[in-house]
Amino acid sequence: MPAAPLHLDTPLFLTSADYSAASRPLWLKLDALQPAGSFKLRGVGRLCQHEVENGAKEIFCASGGNAGIAAAYAGRALGVPVTIVVPQTTSEEVRRSIAATGAAVLVHGSVFDEANAHAVNLAAERKAAYVHPFDHPLLWEGHGTLIDEVVARGAEFDCVVASVGGGGLLAGIVAGLKRNGLDNVPVIAVETEGAASFHASLAADERITLPAITSIANSLGARQVAQHVFDLPRHHPIESVTVTDAEAVAACLKFADAYRILVEPACGAALAVADTHPDLLARFKNPLIEVCGGIGVSLDKLKMWRERLL
Ligand SMILES: *Cc1c(COP(=O)(O)O)cnc(C)c1O
Repeated sequence: MPAAPLHLDTPLFLTSADYSAASRPLWLKLDALQPAGSFKLRGVGRLCQHEVENGAKEIFCASGGNAGIAAAYAGRALGVPVTIVVPQTTSEEVRRSIAATGAAVLVHGSVFDEANAHAVNLAAERKAAYVHPFDHPLLWEGHGTLIDEVVARGAEFDCVVASVGGGGLLAGIVAGLKRNGLDNVPVIAVETEGAASFHASLAADERITLPAITSIANSLGARQVAQHVFDLPRHHPIESVTVTDAEAVAACLKFADAYRILVEPACGAALAVADTHPDLLARFKNPLIEVCGGIGVSLDKLKMWRERLL
C-alpha cells in the first residue's frame, strides 16, 4: 500500500453569485489551508516521499519561499534532514519561517537560478535527493490531487483558474484533469504583469526568458517556465491572461475581508480574474478557482501594498 500523502484534502466551497463581476458562483479550492501554507506540499510531498522510499537520506531544494517551506515540512514528516538554498533576495522573514520548520537554510546567489544550480551541485556531491520547485513529473502528479479531490466531492466545474510561476501547478492541474477524463475542461492560466513568462512565451511561440521580474508576486517570479509547461497548450485547452499587481492585491484584500484568510498576491492573481476578466469567466457556468495560498503575506504587507498600489 502506498504511504499516506503528506498534504490535506482541503475545503471546497461555492461563493455567492455576487462575489465577483463574473456574476456566477465560483468554486474555491482552499489550498491556502495546506500545512506549509500553499498547494506546494501536494507535489513536493509526493516527490520527497518517493525519494525517501527509494533510499534518499537527505533532501536539497532551491526556493525563494513556498516550495522551500513545503520541502522543510515534508522532510520533517519523513524524518530526513532538508537543506533549502535561497537567493539573497529571499526576505529574512521567509528564511526564518523555513528554519522554524526545521530545515537548514543556505543563502547562495543573487537570483533563483544561482541558488538552484548550487542546490543541484550539493545534492549530487552528497548523493542526496534534489527537489525542483516546479519542474518534475512527480510534482505534477502530486499537484493533480487537487483535481482528484474536487472530482471525488462530485463538484461540477467547467473551467479551472490558476496562477502560473514556473508552471508546476498548471502542469499538475492538466495532469489531474486528464486522469479524471476531463480533457475538455480548459484552464485559465494567470500571471501578473512583470512575471508573465508563460504569457510572453505563448505570444512569441517560443519559450521566453524574461530579463527580470518586476511584479510583487514573487511566487510567480520564474523568469522561464518549464519546457513541458510551454508545450501544454498543444495538448490541452489553456488560455493565458494577466492582471496587474494592484488587481492581485485588491483581490487578496477582498478575499481576506470576505473569508478571513490571507493569501499572497500570487494567489490574488487567480482570484482577481473573476473581477478583471468577467467576460472570460462568463463563458463558463461553474468556474473553479485554485486558491493556491502562500506564506509571503501578512497584515502589514497587505497594508503596505494597499498604500503603495491602490
Ligand atoms: C509556487 C506558487 C505558485 C506558482 O506555482 P508554479 O508551479 O511555479 O507555477 C503560485 N502561487 C503560490 C502561492 C505558489 O507558492
